[in-house]
Amino acid sequence: MISFFFIIGTNFFSWGSEPLPAQMRCGHCGTVGNFIKKTGMRFITLFFIVPIVPISGVKNMMQCQTCGTKYHTNP
Ligand SMILES: [Zn+2]
Repeated sequence: MISFFFIIGTNFFSWGSEPLPAQMRCGHCGTVGNFIKKTGMRFITLFFIVPIVPISGVKNMMQCQTCGTKYHTNP
């Protein structure tokens, strides 16, 4: 008898590294500088690494280059 063993989880994947044209102040570290625009989605994953099914819409984020804090730019 063959049994399958899957580990299902969820993980948030983000990609993109487009610099935003305007400078902004980071609320976490206080640095004023250029943020990086990122796009991300939450996926159901297999073994925590293989994305299978997206379970959220596309989320736009911007990330502070100094401390790495991500801010969501849409609700
Ligand atoms: Zn920061």
